[in-house]
Amino acid sequence: MTLNGLPVAVLGAGPVGLAAAAHLIQRGLRPLIFERGDEIGANLNTYRHVRLFSPWQYNIDKAARKLLELSGWRSPAHDGLPTAGELLEAYLTPLAELPEIASALKLGHKVIQVTRQGFDKVKSRGREQAPFVIRVVGPNGERDYHAQAVIDATGTWANPNPLGANGLPALGELGLAAQIAYGMPDVAGIDRTTYAGKRTLVVGAGHSAAGTLLALADIAETVPGTSIVWATRGDQLARVFGGGDADGLPARGQLGLRLKSLRDSGKLELHTNFRMTALHQTTEGIQAVGEAPNGEQVAIDGIDRIVAATGARPDLTLTREMRVRHDPWLESTDALAPLIDPNEHSCGTVRPHGHRELAHPEPGYYAVGAKSYGRAPNFLMATGYEQVRSVVASLVGDMAAADDVQLDLPETGVCNTHFAYDGNAASEPGCCGGPAVDASSACCALDETEKAQGRLGCSTLSSCAPAPKASACCA
Ligand SMILES: Cc1cc2nc3c(=O)[nH]c(=O)nc-3n(C[C@H](O)[C@H](O)[C@H](O)COP(=O)(O)OP(=O)(O)OC[C@H]3O[C@@H](n4cnc5c(N)ncnc54)[C@H](O)[C@@H]3O)c2cc1C
Repeated sequence: MTLNGLPVAVLGAGPVGLAAAAHLIQRGLRPLIFERGDEIGANLNTYRHVRLFSPWQYNIDKAARKLLELSGWRSPAHDGLPTAGELLEAYLTPLAELPEIASALKLGHKVIQVTRQGFDKVKSRGREQAPFVIRVVGPNGERDYHAQAVIDATGTWANPNPLGANGLPALGELGLAAQIAYGMPDVAGIDRTTYAGKRTLVVGAGHSAAGTLLALADIAETVPGTSIVWATRGDQLARVFGGGDADGLPARGQLGLRLKSLRDSGKLELHTNFRMTALHQTTEGIQAVGEAPNGEQVAIDGIDRIVAATGARPDLTLTREMRVRHDPWLESTDALAPLIDPNEHSCGTVRPHGHRELAHPEPGYYAVGAKSYGRAPNFLMATGYEQVRSVVASLVGDMAAADDVQLDLPETGVCNTHFAYDGNAASEPGCCGGPAVDASSACCALDETEKAQGRLGCSTLSSCAPAPKASACCA
């Protein structure tokens, strides 16, 4: 079997997977899209009640827009803020229903492994000419499909981080699963009765935690007995309180400001530096046990429900038989990690990057979208759209377009590098993985020493020194 003529497999029909399919079609390649859910955008669907903070202008991919407009689709107003459900209904569903995408879409097909035909991970000679094999579980059981390249846009949302501060489930967490919701339950909507009049512990310090805390506060206004407890692993809340009016996405800035004012109002019980270790069921409800930085044991008692807003991690089992190289702690590609490491950066954005930073040692395999960030937070759809434009251009050999990566993302307005994930306060201004570069950042070679010291981790190759240009952030 030769590579030519085979489709390009797209794993996942979220916003970035569907954008990849649109770019493939625009470039004359044939997508074959596998989606685990019975509908497209299955991850978005779990938080369809959530109003996004990026307006439509950032949420629609350019190639997808072109295909849609040819079919007579009318774009929503650029400055409108859709909910995740509206993103599905007004944009992604019409996109998936276009005949050229619908005919390539396999719903209810979960990808479980990817490899090369006739090659395990160890065998080298001739490997690059071998088609990819995508093993899928669908309605009729297991089946292998073949592809010339693989664009993995499976996201991370379905693999939530556990509550344990050390990355493992807290002792007792698995046994109390029925009282824990991971992600962003619809606490003010369909799940309201589960939370009204209850004492709920929200764990985490990101936008998801903020949204859930604010929704719980709304319930607490009207339903007596509703109480809110917020536990964070560190004590620096500036990141989640955000840049306020300086945020390039006003809705994101407002979210942080509203959370700050809720904290200041004293209407929630806040436990910072709470590193959760165990959960116990007692006669008075759940007891959450944590460890303070000084090693002292602390406890939060009488909890009815827990919302784990602790982020998510990629499923790396899909590529067990592939030659992939990930950053040791973020699980993104090596080249992308220094630009997005939450230990260092707080701007919620990243300088332009494309097929080179996303490449793995396995030629033809790219993880894109939320999965490309691994465990790092703050991924935006607009980043994924530019990633897939660059990746698809490289697949057709248009290297000029592939290397011409352009990304103009709204900053959070929290402009610090060395902005510790959990603890130490900012020590140095700067932002966003360093200044934007004029040339493709593919010119960077990884420097682990630099990265470990909190710098870019990117030592410039003499042959292609990128000239820094002013970054929009931290004016
Ligand atoms: C609460 C919340 C609010 C957010 N708000 C914003 C915002 O305002 N603006 C913004 O730009 N971004 C926002 N994001 C980030 C947003 O999730 C991403 O930008 C976007 O969803 C990423 O798209 P994706 O296609 O990479 O991944 P996903 O949307 O996660 O899609 C992945 C798809 O792959 C499928 N899949 C997973 N595993 C498999 C498998 N093994 N086989 C087949 N299919 C599989 C899933 O079912 C899913 O449909 C938000 C995220 C959350 C959680």
